[in-house]
Amino acid sequence: MIIQLHNNITEKDRNALNKILSDNKIKFSEISTQFKKYIIGILSNEIDIRLIGNIEGVKDVHRVTDPYKLVSRKWKVNPTVIELGDGVTIGGNGFTLIAGPCSIESEYQVQKSVEQLKKNNVKIMRGGVFKPRSSPYAFRGLGIEGLKMLHSVCKANGIKIITEVMQVSQIEEMIDYVDVFQVGARNTQNFNLLDALGKVDMPVMLKRGISGTIDELLQSAEYVFFAGNEKLILCERGMRTYEKAYRNTFDINAIPILKEKSHLPVIADPSHGIGIRKHVEKITLAAMVAGADGAMIEMHHEPEIAFSDGQQSLNFEEFDKLVNRLMVLEEGLK
Ligand code: PEP
Ligand code: MN
Repeated sequence: MIIQLHNNITEKDRNALNKILSDNKIKFSEISTQFKKYIIGILSNEIDIRLIGNIEGVKDVHRVTDPYKLVSRKWKVNPTVIELGDGVTIGGNGFTLIAGPCSIESEYQVQKSVEQLKKNNVKIMRGGVFKPRSSPYAFRGLGIEGLKMLHSVCKANGIKIITEVMQVSQIEEMIDYVDVFQVGARNTQNFNLLDALGKVDMPVMLKRGISGTIDELLQSAEYVFFAGNEKLILCERGMRTYEKAYRNTFDINAIPILKEKSHLPVIADPSHGIGIRKHVEKITLAAMVAGADGAMIEMHHEPEIAFSDGQQSLNFEEFDKLVNRLMVLEEGLK
């Protein structure tokens, strides 16, 4: 059960509510986000929720049987729109493209990428500076200095930044230089990181875990909301299956299912989803048809020499073509 309180609920109303909860032996948690105050009650027996709804300081009360509550569409029917400022949004109407290299490598590379984004009217750049790599010998990112450089170029050009945060201690040093924190597939169930991201007022995009289920992704999002941050985005990036013909199995089914189960925006990551450059376009188009709110695409001015994930990064010509085809498809779907 989700009880949404008026922000100015009186002490008298709070006490009346507490009495109903304790009389009915309802275990509950109090949640306070950047926007609102909620009480989540775990119901073990039947209760007439009108008793709660009739209290003046209670704005709304809903019965939600899902294991996740606040991210469930059973409670909030309208889609959530994440505002990044300057009119840049994710969710609601429209399809938001995010693009950039797998890893930030140099100022030259960032300049080239930003020019390419501007040419295509893409407002959000991706690019990792803290890279989770399977091998310790692989390129692990330029770190905070790379992020500062990325930020100065993007800021000068009106481009927003999404980049991966790998651990709690990085949040503070990164926060002034990012617009969205990305939680990578290897960290989707790093609950300490999720708790800490719940304490900041900054959008968080959560990728599906490498072998994670849809419910686990939604419960990870619930962690961040529970800790106080409602600005959440979900990302389908493919998962590990027995199939070896491509890098990951992009779960197209997850898109309509996530949209049905949750009010949060859903971004597709076809680059990691298939891991093969020449097929990224088709999977991105499929994600649009499936109802994704946007896509995050790896792109590099010279994929052949990229420090990471060159095999799945589009070159600029391929990216231009993708953008054009997405525009045509979007028109066709109207
Ligand atoms: C990435 O976006 O570069 C990345 C490392 O993705 P994932 O966490 O999905 O593997
Ligand atoms: Mn990558």
